[in-house]
Amino acid sequence: MSEIITIDGPGGSGKSTIARMMAKNLGFVYLDTGAMYRAVALAAMRNKIPFDQGALLGDLCSAMNLQFKHVEDASRLLLNNEDISLAIRSPEMDIASSAVSAVKEVRIAMTDLQRRLAQNINVVAEGRDMGTVVFPNAKNKFFLTARPEVRAQRRYLERKGRGEDITFEEVERLLKKRDRQDESRNLAPLKPAEDAIIIDSSDLDLEEVIQLMLDNVRKA
Ligand code: C5P
Repeated sequence: MSEIITIDGPGGSGKSTIARMMAKNLGFVYLDTGAMYRAVALAAMRNKIPFDQGALLGDLCSAMNLQFKHVEDASRLLLNNEDISLAIRSPEMDIASSAVSAVKEVRIAMTDLQRRLAQNINVVAEGRDMGTVVFPNAKNKFFLTARPEVRAQRRYLERKGRGEDITFEEVERLLKKRDRQDESRNLAPLKPAEDAIIIDSSDLDLEEVIQLMLDNVRKA
């Protein structure tokens, strides 16, 4: 039996870094499901498929060959054998992935693929609906959050670090917009599973969050 740990939460909550570190610590595979929605958004834009065309987007998802390649600490995403890890991280893809992820056909295809990818292996699955929809029977579920201004500040520093020319106000505005979109959609909205442990990382450092999670995993 494979073991699944889910980590859901809004942008800037630290969940990617933490999910990666948890996976490494436990020897599990890290599954970055946000990257998968980003890949769909990128493919849709390249193929000029509007985001209101559910059937076409569904066909696109069926035709896409998405693969994660795990190299040392990093996980690269390949779309039809092209490494798109960098291309999916643009601010444009932040908003586009959030829009495309509200489409029913896209969610069905990605949920199915996520379950297949996690078959027979131990996984730390990170996203918005891991504990609620995709892996409702996961043994350990976490919902990681932080105060909005803390999340915006983290995102701002991350973007500046990548050399982007962006202001704090703009980062805050975009983050709020995306949170609103992700929380208010009808399908698999961003929310904690009833049996998730909620962790506010605003005043904790990475090691403290990891320790808290590992303590819970060992207790379970
Ligand atoms: O986590 P990340 O910022 O890469 O996710 C990009 C977008 O993909 C999110 O804003 C969200 O709309 C969508 N997403 C989702 N379900 C997931 C993971 C991500 O809807 N499990």
